[in-house]
Amino acid sequence: MNFDFNVDEEFARRLDSQDSLKNFRERFYIPSNTIYLDGNSLGLFPKEAEMSLLRVTNEWKTLAIQGWFEGQRPWWYFGEDLGAMAAPLVGAEPEEVVATGTTTINLHSLVSTFYHPNGNRTKILADELDFPSDIYALKDQIKLKGLNPDQHLVLAPPNGRFFDEKKIVELMTDEIALVLLPSALYRSGQLLDMAYLTDESHKRGIPIGFDCCHSVGAVPHYFDEWGVDFAFWCSYKYLNSGPGGTAFLYINKKHFSKEPGLSGWFGYVKEKQFDMSLDFKHAKSAGGWQISSSNILCSAPIEGSLKVTLEAGIHGIRKKSLKMTSYLIYLVDHLLTEDPYDFEIGTPRTEQRTGHVALEHCEAFRITEALKTRGVITDFRPPNIVRIAPVALYNTYHEIWQVVQILKEIIEKQEYKQFSK
Ligand SMILES: *Cc1c(COP(=O)(O)O)cnc(C)c1O
Repeated sequence: MNFDFNVDEEFARRLDSQDSLKNFRERFYIPSNTIYLDGNSLGLFPKEAEMSLLRVTNEWKTLAIQGWFEGQRPWWYFGEDLGAMAAPLVGAEPEEVVATGTTTINLHSLVSTFYHPNGNRTKILADELDFPSDIYALKDQIKLKGLNPDQHLVLAPPNGRFFDEKKIVELMTDEIALVLLPSALYRSGQLLDMAYLTDESHKRGIPIGFDCCHSVGAVPHYFDEWGVDFAFWCSYKYLNSGPGGTAFLYINKKHFSKEPGLSGWFGYVKEKQFDMSLDFKHAKSAGGWQISSSNILCSAPIEGSLKVTLEAGIHGIRKKSLKMTSYLIYLVDHLLTEDPYDFEIGTPRTEQRTGHVALEHCEAFRITEALKTRGVITDFRPPNIVRIAPVALYNTYHEIWQVVQILKEIIEKQEYKQFSK
């Protein structure tokens, strides 16, 4: 990953003109007078997502209940259909992925399926830099087994901003019943080596799952090849499917016959669902892990969004994303690290990173506010991080160049000082 960059504006323009994905920007609604670099929190709205959403609302108007079977994409199979569409993004077979629920609910459902404390193996291994919701949920899962999270939740400590995967592996002892890790850290953007972690976990007889919110749509995944047991991720970050949109889950097909930990009628064997039997029999596919009726209105935009992502291709997206984050790191290194700027890069410089760059600065919070008044949307993560996500599908190299100039001015003119801490 060696790029020959320079700091000139003209160079940014040239990168844009040579970009094979440049036309995808027109497929999105870009807020006016805004440089939007927050697609790792909420992706922008693709026009195709609006179309699939409007089609479904129209089906509700015109077909009403018949939409379940007579919609253009019948609602009854919507979750499975979207799962099959998304499967190539994560290296899975179509029936191993389903669009259902929400991220944290899917965590509960999957952990309750895979966490069976037994004998000496009673603990869950996660990590100290995990997204808080995951930790809250894991503690509850442990409590539901009648155990104390203080003793049964092991959190791998980082080495500074990052993890050394070998240190995580050292914690995979014979007391661990389940490993649950993020694919990428939401602050530093470090991408963990999922293949290696899965391999090591399995060597020790421990099932392993990943929260992939911060990587699906930005990075290719190979769940089947790696042998990951389960995974889940949201659709509203790099998948651009709208605030609180339906999430996804993946179950490796070797586990299809496992009993779902949280069952509901939508996971029933599809052809027999209306038998209304009181004995639950789950579908032998990821669809078996659905709980409730598909939330169709929160799923409809996913169809259009996935079309755009699949058309661009996840490998092309990854290639451009790495080039964009490399370019941003290059500009920060050359223009923003010395006194008085004093920014530091808090993201791996290798390819072990997802789609955003963490800029560290002791005034990160006020700088994020100052950026906002300049029409630049990024986000702040405590204690000292401005996260900047140049998204391959809709951001430009020139925007990255502009943001670095704006950051330079914000520091030079001390613009951030007008905001309270
Ligand atoms: C965004 C994110 C979530 C969000 O959880 P919701 O249940 O969708 O609110 C969970 N985990 C990680 C790692 C995230 O980045």
